[in-house]
Amino acid sequence: MRPIEMVDLKSQHNRLQPHLNNTILDVVASSVYIKGAEVSMFEEELAAKLDVKHVIACANGTDALQLALMALELKPGDEVITSNFTYVATAEIIALLQLKPVLVDVDPETFEIDLNEVVKAIGPKTKAIVPVHLFGQCCNMEGLMQIAKEHKLYVVEDTAQAINADFYFTNGSSMKAGTIGDIGTTSFFPSKNLGCMGDGGAIFTNNDELALKLRMIANHGQSKQYYHDLVGVNSRLDSIQAAILRIKLPHLDEYCQKRQEAAAIYDDLLKDEPGIVCPVRSTKSSHVFHQYVVKVVGASRDALKAFLNSKSIPCNIYYPVPLNKQKAYLDESRTFKHTDKLCEIVLALPMHTELDLEQQKYIVTEIKKFLKDEN
Ligand SMILES: *Cc1c(COP(=O)(O)O)cnc(C)c1O
Repeated sequence: MRPIEMVDLKSQHNRLQPHLNNTILDVVASSVYIKGAEVSMFEEELAAKLDVKHVIACANGTDALQLALMALELKPGDEVITSNFTYVATAEIIALLQLKPVLVDVDPETFEIDLNEVVKAIGPKTKAIVPVHLFGQCCNMEGLMQIAKEHKLYVVEDTAQAINADFYFTNGSSMKAGTIGDIGTTSFFPSKNLGCMGDGGAIFTNNDELALKLRMIANHGQSKQYYHDLVGVNSRLDSIQAAILRIKLPHLDEYCQKRQEAAAIYDDLLKDEPGIVCPVRSTKSSHVFHQYVVKVVGASRDALKAFLNSKSIPCNIYYPVPLNKQKAYLDESRTFKHTDKLCEIVLALPMHTELDLEQQKYIVTEIKKFLKDEN
């Protein structure tokens, strides 16, 4: 059996290696390392793939969130609602811009932001909602957009984990994750579903005015060279990363499909194991399985993790601590019963495009062995 990895980028890249090597060498030979055709072509190709009007590439997924919130011109003290169960970047950027992150609890089945909790969190200072499409499926964007419309709030979708996921509206139409709200953001961190070989990110919008502003903000607020109309930042995707992403983008559907196949195999192998709850699929979204996150209900999650690690099976906890219990974002005024519980019982199993059946069978056999010995 091949060694099991949490994310196997080496094998994924090996299959494209000659193309990747050539494109990197081409960029090196061109000496256009910043901006240039590779970046603009990647932006156009990704916009076409996601069926969104504008894609603005930037330096990483955290910057993408920052640029998005800067473009909305929120004022210090304005409140932005987001999930308590997410990667820190989401809340970090809100706080960094001197806005107030208002954290809300999640649905314990889908792990997505709970819309009832969103409504309860809306107050006179609320200006925006940042839903996170956690682990690879969309939260209920139709319901969320209705709430946003009613209360005149902006919506910025954090799509770092769900690029290419489809959201299904009740009228039968569908849209890609990140293209439904005012702005969507994503990350091309190497282990994300579409990863480059360093840092990278992008912003999506169908709004021409916001697109223009986002481009300016990403480039020192510049309207033309050396004319700065807005306070901006320097956030760009390198040409080499754009060129790599242009090679990988045509494989995105296949990458999603491979993850979905691996998820279906886990589901099947684990279906008779009462100690493990497999990830619940939303009826409103496809699932692109950035992570395959189970709930460990039949034993101690930490003990299972240690056991699997001892059997050379990597696995990880996303996320061990709710944001409201992090020192930087402490909020003990409210309780978050679902987030609290999830942080104790979730476990992410190896998930990537290169898993094979033998590896998955071994992983599940060891999980079952452990749970049997514990009970
Ligand atoms: C990865 C991630 C980010 C940040 O992306 P970087 O490119 O690492 O800055 C933001 N939000 C979520 C939900 C993520 O998973």
